[in-house]
Amino acid sequence: MEFEDRSLVCRECGAPFIFTAQEQEFFQSRRLEHEPTRCPECRASRKGGRRPAKESAEIACAACGLVTEVPFKPSGGKPVYCRDCYPLRS
Ligand SMILES: [Zn+2]
Ligand SMILES: [Zn+2]
Repeated sequence: MEFEDRSLVCRECGAPFIFTAQEQEFFQSRRLEHEPTRCPECRASRKGGRRPAKESAEIACAACGLVTEVPFKPSGGKPVYCRDCYPLRS
């Protein structure tokens, strides 16, 4: 059976990428039934675990007033501190 390069679309970022004949052969030899769903870049960034945080928000530090980004959505009421002040306050 011959393989041909195929163009797939990354499900993560929507970018087209090539599922090469070589890769298809490799997939078949390992009896992998599912095609890759992510482009090489997204696969690499997944492995590295460096995905951007899902939620982030700009806050003004309750102690020094610095505007900074935090990797969560502050729940109302509680004061939020910047990275420098947080260790001092917790
Ligand atoms: Zn991608
Ligand atoms: Zn601060």
